[in-house]
Amino acid sequence: MSRFWSPFVKNLVPYVPGEQPKLSRLVKLNTNENPYGPSPLALAAMQAELGDSLRLYPDPNGEHLKQAVADYYSIQPDRVFVGNGSDEVLAHAFQGLFQHDKPLLFPDITYSFYPVYCGLYGISFETVALDENFQIRAEDYARPNGGIVFPNPNAPTGCLLPLVAIERILQANPDSVVLVDEAYIDFGGETAVGLVDRYPNLLVCQTLSKSRSLAGLRVGLAIGHPELIEALERVKNSFNSYPLDRLAIAGAAAAFADREHFSRTCNAVIDSRERLVAALQVLGFEALPSAANFIFVRHPAWDAAQLAATLREQGVIVRHFKHPRIEQFLRITIGTPEQNQALLDALAGQQG
Ligand SMILES: *Cc1c(COP(=O)(O)O)cnc(C)c1O
Repeated sequence: MSRFWSPFVKNLVPYVPGEQPKLSRLVKLNTNENPYGPSPLALAAMQAELGDSLRLYPDPNGEHLKQAVADYYSIQPDRVFVGNGSDEVLAHAFQGLFQHDKPLLFPDITYSFYPVYCGLYGISFETVALDENFQIRAEDYARPNGGIVFPNPNAPTGCLLPLVAIERILQANPDSVVLVDEAYIDFGGETAVGLVDRYPNLLVCQTLSKSRSLAGLRVGLAIGHPELIEALERVKNSFNSYPLDRLAIAGAAAAFADREHFSRTCNAVIDSRERLVAALQVLGFEALPSAANFIFVRHPAWDAAQLAATLREQGVIVRHFKHPRIEQFLRITIGTPEQNQALLDALAGQQG
C-alpha cells in the first residue's frame, strides 16, 4: 500500500495466476498449457513476419486473423473480435456488455477471473450454485440479471454443458448477453458458434492459449452478433488500438489454418486424458467427467493440499484451489504420456 495509490487501486483484488516456475525440469501440470508445441505453420508465419516490417504498427483490426477465424467457422468476419488473450476479450465484454443495474450471474465454482473483472469495473454479481454433481443447471439461470457468463466446459471442473442447455439459457434471457467462455471447447465439446446467427444475445469467447498451444503469444477472440462485436470494438478502441502485434496476427491466423496439427494434437490430449483418468481411478481417485485438457480429481483418503505439496516436492506441479466445496480437489493438466506417467509414479510412492 502506498500513499500514491488511488482509493480504487487500494480496493482492487487481482487475479492470482498459476505458478510459472523458473525450474524447467519440473513436470508442469498446473496452468492448462498444451504439452504439444504450436503449429509449425504458425511458427513459420511468425518467422516470416520477423523483419523490417516490425517498425510499422500492426493492422489495428487484425483483419487477417478475423478472416482466418471466419474461414474456420464459415461465418462472416464482422462477427469476430480479436484481442490480447481471451482474458482481455473477457475484460472488454464485462466493461462493454455487463455493466447494468441488475447483477451478473455466474456459477459459484468457475473461472476466478470473473469476480476480479466485476471488482475492476464495479459490476455487481450473484453466483449460482452448481448442482451436487458440479454441473450447471440451465433452469437456475432464469432469474433477473444483467448478463450471464460461464466457461464451457466449466473451469476448474471440466464439465461440459450440452448445447441444448445453452439454448435454454439463451431463450430464458433474451434481454441479457450470455457469454460462453469456450477456452477448452476443442477438447471434446461442441462449440456454440453455430448458435450465434439465431441468438443475438450470445457471445462466444475463445483462446489460442490451450487447444492451439499459443499461450505465450496472447491471442483470444469473441464471436457474436455484429452489435455485440461493435461494443467490444468501442471499448478496445478506447483502450489500446493495437492489442495484437504483427507476430501474433500472423501466427494466430496460420494456427487457425493448420487444421491437421490442431486436430492431431487435440486428439492426443483427449486420448491421454482418458488413459490418465483410468490410471488414477485404479489408485482410488474420483474424477469429474472432463471435456477439457485437465481433470478435476479427489482422493477419499488423501488431503488435496497436502498431496499437491508432496507432488511438488517430487517435481510435479498441479493446481489446488482453497475454495469452499472444492478444497479436496486437484486440477491436473493433461501432459504428454511421459509427464502423465511421471505424475502416476510420484503418486505411486504416495501410498500408505
Ligand atoms: C485460460 C482461460 C482463459 C484465458 O485465456 P487467455 O487467452 O490465455 O487469456 C479464459 N477463460 C478460461 C476459463 C480459461 O481457463
